[in-house]
Amino acid sequence: MLLTAPPTAILSALAQEQNGLLALLQQPQQVRHAGRTFWQGHLQGQPVVLALSRIGKVAAATTTTALIERFGVQRIVFTGVAGGLGAGVKVGDVVVATDFLQHDLDVSPLFPRYEVPLYGQTRFVGDAALTALLFTAACGALAHEPETGRGGLVTQQFSGACVHQGLIASGDRFVSGAGESRLLQAALAVAGHEVLAVEMECAAVAQVCLDYGVPFAAVRTISDRADDSAHVDFSSFVEQVASRYAQAIIERFLMSL
Ligand code: SAH
Repeated sequence: MLLTAPPTAILSALAQEQNGLLALLQQPQQVRHAGRTFWQGHLQGQPVVLALSRIGKVAAATTTTALIERFGVQRIVFTGVAGGLGAGVKVGDVVVATDFLQHDLDVSPLFPRYEVPLYGQTRFVGDAALTALLFTAACGALAHEPETGRGGLVTQQFSGACVHQGLIASGDRFVSGAGESRLLQAALAVAGHEVLAVEMECAAVAQVCLDYGVPFAAVRTISDRADDSAHVDFSSFVEQVASRYAQAIIERFLMSL
């Protein structure tokens, strides 16, 4: 009997983040489930399922549960964009998550602010081995490759782009104001959380993955600074750049598995 390995799930929030990967998918097969489209196939010789989390924590939790229950995935990797919150986290940089928290979860004074009730924890950690592979893949993707002559992702527009590793905060809110992002950062810092980037899905995915014991890691490219021009920066980045980043990083990541 031929046993095929369980697939790796590649999750994104937006179609623009997924397009480049979908274009490379070998033997694509479309499955409709839970009001969503899942794409089964192969990338770099590996069995994969591509899926959209959709936007926000609840939608992301539904997609993650479906990937685990219905598709039996053995690991989940998220690739998408995020707002840069930490000092020095610029548009065009890449953040590989070490851990995740929900910045809009507050059951105080019953529980410490940001703690997820009944889990006894605030941060959910990414799988260390997958995270290390993603970090290497992201560094490789950004770098120019002298041996092949292939240019990296860093263009003049994002010269000096770099890869960071650290905490990502998720919440059901597009953070798009300099004042708001400062307040958010300060409130998190008071509670001891130095956040690099803000987005809307990964902490939910991490929580579901913890529940099921499925390894999870995430990479986010910075599309905006979560400030007053976030909506403009976000839209143009998503249209022009996001899918190239996802493609280059995930291809390298799958090769290294
Ligand atoms: N314009 C989109 C909505 C995008 S919401 C649409 O019409 O479909 C923003 C998405 O990008 C979310 O998936 C979130 O994870 C990420 N993101 C990027 N910048 C963000 C920011 N500043 N705050 C919160 N999420 C951000």
